[in-house]
Amino acid sequence: MSGHIKGEKVYRGIAVSAGVCRGKVVVLHRARHAIVRREMGPDEVPQEIKRFEHALVRTRQQITEVQRRVADTMSSSEADIFDAHLLMLEDRVLIEEVIKIIREQKANADYAFHTASDRYITVLETVEDEYLRERAADLRDLTSRVLDNLLNVKQQLDLRHLTEPCILIGHDLSPSTTAQLDKNFVLGFATDIGGKTSHTAILAKSLDIPAVVGTQNISEELDTGDYALLDGYNGTLIVNPTDATLFEYGQLAKIKASLTEKLREIQRQPAVTLDGQAIHLSANIEHLNDVQAVINHGAEGVGLFRTEFLFISRESLPSEGDQYQVYRDVAAALKPQPVIIRTVDLGGDKFSSQLQLAKEVNPFLGWRAIRFCLAQPEVFRAQLRAILRASAEGNVKMMYPMISGLDELTQANAHVEKCKAELRDEKIPFDEKMEIGAMIEIPSAALVAGALAKKVNFFSIGSNDLIQYTLAADRTNEKVSHLYEPTHPAILRLIKFTVDAAHANGIWAGVCGEIAGDPVLAPLLLGLGVDELSAAPSAIDSVKYIIRRVKNAEARQLAEFALQSESPAEIFARCQELARQTAPSLFENKA
Ligand code: PEP
Ligand code: MG
Repeated sequence: MSGHIKGEKVYRGIAVSAGVCRGKVVVLHRARHAIVRREMGPDEVPQEIKRFEHALVRTRQQITEVQRRVADTMSSSEADIFDAHLLMLEDRVLIEEVIKIIREQKANADYAFHTASDRYITVLETVEDEYLRERAADLRDLTSRVLDNLLNVKQQLDLRHLTEPCILIGHDLSPSTTAQLDKNFVLGFATDIGGKTSHTAILAKSLDIPAVVGTQNISEELDTGDYALLDGYNGTLIVNPTDATLFEYGQLAKIKASLTEKLREIQRQPAVTLDGQAIHLSANIEHLNDVQAVINHGAEGVGLFRTEFLFISRESLPSEGDQYQVYRDVAAALKPQPVIIRTVDLGGDKFSSQLQLAKEVNPFLGWRAIRFCLAQPEVFRAQLRAILRASAEGNVKMMYPMISGLDELTQANAHVEKCKAELRDEKIPFDEKMEIGAMIEIPSAALVAGALAKKVNFFSIGSNDLIQYTLAADRTNEKVSHLYEPTHPAILRLIKFTVDAAHANGIWAGVCGEIAGDPVLAPLLLGLGVDELSAAPSAIDSVKYIIRRVKNAEARQLAEFALQSESPAEIFARCQELARQTAPSLFENKA
């Protein structure tokens, strides 16, 4: 049913990716499988077996239907998945076991199927053979489909098969799902939960589509087919916008079009302040095909290549060769501009279906990033070798995420040295002088920056995590978003401390978290002495615009004030004041 919301209704959330779009919404419902064991009488058994068989038939029809619909566009690996699902669906051993549980334990079909397939999944997950291990993920997928049918849960929409442009609405969208969204069909999205620097939000910026998170319950209130306008500047979703609202947004679109023109004019200009201070402005990317946007927006290379999306958006782990090709292609396309490749940052809110990492109570404090890599040397070394091989292009640098102290850095560097020795033996070329950096995103790393600086060629401050870890405010949780304050004095002091430690040791320090792409905060970072800002390609223009209009002296004054203030709100207000005075046209966002 659609259209039950009468008249215009405004839902508010957190704006995480700028822009406005309008269109029909598609609501992604949460898959819920409440498996409860029901005791049945003996006469109910045949009926329950029939129900199970019927669900199998229904599932088979659905899979063949999807397979048929996408036959033209499917790659062979996707076709294989469907074939594997169909084969499992006919597995007599599994079917017999389910029927046995229904018969002997007098259990309901959903309980029986869930129990039997769970047993299978556990066995598959623990076998040595990698191929068989991968089948566990297939069986989990299939189990979910069969349970949907047994429990009459509405089919979860397959995002690869959207047929017309829409605004996606969901309780949440995982970064791996977001990474696979097709911009031609997804105009923007809004979710019930989420934070400003979650990886889902970051990916929306990368895709350059409007996004709003933390709207609390829209996924319950809206229906597929409702018409809405999504405002990624002000963080609102307006269902059934009136003509007056649409007119106001039409005016805003005109203002934005003229701003875009202005910004386009400076895309080939340098990022230099009015009084001659240059800052390096580079881009954050997640995929090879983001390179075009880097070039279009005139970024000076890549300051952060988040490589984990090579790992989570595919059916199997990328090999050294697969990775090498991507890294080399990115480096070759941007030569001679530098490309900083970050070693894989899995964990936290980014998981690979392939690695089957166990669920953790505190994933952001757990087995993430460099911790994971040091514990999985095979995965780490394949990536290091791929990056080193790509460094033969001459413009590649590399950095490690989540360094917490000197030990991790030393261990990681030792792996690099081993890989270099191997490549030398194998006579495979690489850049002997490839620069290596450490991300500073844990307070402990900032506080020992002096020691770390002696072991690396640069620092890149990951403010998204630095803020979350310093203020103990989960970056993906809208309930604590009021505590997630980039202008908190503790954050600014840590940034200043890191930058000073870098400079004292003759290396540079950049910032690659979301604050680097915020024109309100860019002058403050400049004033704190940051040498490089790296942001989503779509954010580069506005940052450059403000840098070119501000004086370094003003930025220094702002930083001095900020370092003495104890109030995040007061510091933020000062930043806003300077930004609005310097570049008012960047802030005309109200419809
Ligand atoms: C950061 O933490 O600021 C950062 C750039 O890394 P990520 O957002 O991928 O965690
Ligand atoms: Mg980080």
